[in-house]
Amino acid sequence: MRKERACRKCRYITYSNVCEACGSKDLSEDWTGIILIFSLDSKIAKMINAKKPGKYAIRVR
Ligand SMILES: [Zn+2]
Repeated sequence: MRKERACRKCRYITYSNVCEACGSKDLSEDWTGIILIFSLDSKIAKMINAKKPGKYAIRVR
């Protein structure tokens, strides 16, 4: 099973080697907690400054 990685810049979670939200290659396998963003207009999306709907890590090391 491939491990999901979280972007260190925007915390977007992806299986790819490049963050699909901000294009950064600075990804970490060491992260905890998941925030699900369905709509970019939601309060939580604005709080974490989400650029794209999807999964975000709460903490990335
Ligand atoms: Zn990113």
